[in-house]
Amino acid sequence: MTFRSLAIACALFAVVATAGSAAAAPAEALPQATGVRVGGDDKQTRFVVDLSQKIGLAAFTLADPYRVVIDLPQLAFHLPADSGEKGRGLIKAFRYGLIMQGGSRIVLDTKGPVKVERVFTVDAADGQPARLVLDLSPTDRTAFLRTIALDNRNVRATSGKAADAAPKAPGDTRPLVVLDPGHGGIDIGAKAAGGEMEKDVVLQFALTLRDKMTGSGKFRVALTREDDTFVPLSERVRFARAQGAALFVSIHADSIPRGEGQAEGATVYTLSDNATDAAAARLAEAENKADVIAGVDLTAEPDDVANILVDLAQRETKNFSGQFAKLLVSELKATAKLHKHPLKSAGFKVLTAPDVPSVLVELGFMSTKEDLKQLTSAVWQARTAGALAQAIDKYFAPRMAGAGRN
Ligand SMILES: [Zn+2]
Repeated sequence: MTFRSLAIACALFAVVATAGSAAAAPAEALPQATGVRVGGDDKQTRFVVDLSQKIGLAAFTLADPYRVVIDLPQLAFHLPADSGEKGRGLIKAFRYGLIMQGGSRIVLDTKGPVKVERVFTVDAADGQPARLVLDLSPTDRTAFLRTIALDNRNVRATSGKAADAAPKAPGDTRPLVVLDPGHGGIDIGAKAAGGEMEKDVVLQFALTLRDKMTGSGKFRVALTREDDTFVPLSERVRFARAQGAALFVSIHADSIPRGEGQAEGATVYTLSDNATDAAAARLAEAENKADVIAGVDLTAEPDDVANILVDLAQRETKNFSGQFAKLLVSELKATAKLHKHPLKSAGFKVLTAPDVPSVLVELGFMSTKEDLKQLTSAVWQARTAGALAQAIDKYFAPRMAGAGRN
């Protein structure tokens, strides 16, 4: 599959471990980021973050696309909502947020290969707050990649872990359904004009759906994340497989770039090498970028879906995924607005578990006013979650009816 060709290299530049305990702490106890500035030009760019106290950090670079990643202890970011949308000098844009419990991250998108000249934090002094300072200069690709090759052995895995699954009591044969709220933490997903974020909408929806499903008592339900934490795509898939999930439902909300027309309604996606249409291909590409956005090193991912047995299993899984997708569309039809082509497929990385039937639902468009109103409405969420729960019920009904027989 094409997304396996993603080659991301990285290098560790500096580790200054002065931070204290990185355990999750109440927001008021966390160090705070209170301001951010980018100065300079294409020859020398300085990135500055004002902090409530001096903290430890680690910075490294990633290629394709060129990025600089700064890992920090968990911070409370009190920055203007549009911070990072526009850069300056060598920095195109940047984003920040939680990457795992206890750890925050800032990812800078750079215009080309850069050299981290220096990166450090300083104590408050002379009426100035404590600060993080990072200086960048331009370099060429060869030099950039050479630095990466030299330092690659030092790279540590920085990836969030999926939440723990619902404990399974001995003798509990109920099927496990894994709900996967997209994005989280530093990866906000689609953003509406008014600032509403996909990561929040889909988490709220998944929690509503979980409550509905656990209420019936027919299933065990687990979420890949239960709070605003980043979870890499591969970790979501690994989690579903490791828990022996019988069904995996990834939940998202789409958006269309300004000036590219309007679209509305929900769409249900299954995995395919050949995208149904250009829009589906574009969407899969955007959703697969979650790890790139967060600065996860993909080179470390095991390639465990590459043998013939897996391929056979995948064929059967594919049939089940297709069956569930059809059921879901027919249930949603009664309660929610559907996209004009509600059943599609494309190469979504999060749907690649070879042995777990998996679908991805785009609930609607964050970029469409009417859709957004519904997506953020508790009434609409409850009703639509009801339709999903109903489809899950119908999907398992014949399987559970046969479970008691030999
Ligand atoms: Zn999404």
